Amino acid sequence: MIPTSFEYEQAETVAQAISKLLESSGEAKLLAGGHSLLPMMKLRLSSPEKLIDISGIKELHGIVRDPDALVVGALTTHAEVASSRMVRDTLPLLADAAGKIGDLQVRNRGTVGGNLAHADMASDLPAVALALDAEITVETPHGTEVIPVDEFLLGPLITALPENSVLKNVRFKIPQKGFNSVYEKISHPASGYAVVGIAAVIACDDNNVVTQAAIGVTGAGDVAYRAKAVEEALLGKVFTEDVIRHASELAADDGVIAGDLYASENYRRQLCKVHTARALRRVAPL
Ligand SMILES: Cc1cc2nc3c(=O)[nH]c(=O)nc-3n(C[C@H](O)[C@H](O)[C@H](O)COP(=O)(O)OP(=O)(O)OC[C@H]3O[C@@H](n4cnc5c(N)ncnc54)[C@H](O)[C@@H]3O)c2cc1C
Repeated sequence: MIPTSFEYEQAETVAQAISKLLESSGEAKLLAGGHSLLPMMKLRLSSPEKLIDISGIKELHGIVRDPDALVVGALTTHAEVASSRMVRDTLPLLADAAGKIGDLQVRNRGTVGGNLAHADMASDLPAVALALDAEITVETPHGTEVIPVDEFLLGPLITALPENSVLKNVRFKIPQKGFNSVYEKISHPASGYAVVGIAAVIACDDNNVVTQAAIGVTGAGDVAYRAKAVEEALLGKVFTEDVIRHASELAADDGVIAGDLYASENYRRQLCKVHTARALRRVAPL
């Protein structure tokens, strides 16, 4: 439970963080809230020679509203997101999910950028980011890149973050007018991580016909995914209990579902279906 020794430096700007990463030729890691990296180091699953603390970089903090998105700075904590009036009013799903992460201590330290950069298979924000078609802005040694979240999350702890780069912000898109959204989660009793988490965004027209459906699933497999089969089963249909029941049966179809000591593959498949149905009932204007 004691990490190997490491050097520690602070960066005050994104440019400084990148030049420190380049100087360290792959042996350094960025430190944000430390609530994923430090446990990994204590277990010796990660042994960087140097930590570059980016928590003091002011430009990476805060939430800004664009006409069609909320742009959340990488260092914004889960607690700040959960308690933000702007987030609660604009994207209640995001506030809901952030408020369900771990416990208060984790939410006070853990950051939105760290959560997505770490890409734990049981993290909550990947499901929300997928359901809101989020875009990840990264600063690389060669300039700024914008990566759609479905191209960013590649596998367990694997992302498309380019080498020696800093995740700057996440742009969560605001869905079409009149949408409803929820985050439905079953938490691991010890860690609080998602055994299965379902982020659902639904919009219907005046006749209760589904005009927009986006379902993000986390915790169930190697990497969070969009439940495309569910979305297709909903789009264009009148949003009834029968349609919800049929669509949610497809919730595990687009993922590579995995089992572990806590929950078998079959159990996780079942959780996907049950919790997708619950999420859809919560958003339904039935
Ligand atoms: C007990 C416990 C319970 C938890 N429960 C949950 C839960 O229920 N749901 C959930 O989603 N998460 C949970 N977490 C994880 C928590 O949300 C983490 O804080 C988060 O996943 C990582 O954010 P961080 O700021 O702590 O990142 P760090 O631990 O500092 O960094 C994580 C990784 O991301 C990289 N990184 C961080 N920021 C950037 C950046 N801006 N640019 C590029 N790379 C970056 C780091 O180099 C490192 O590799 C839990 C953690 C603990 C300890």
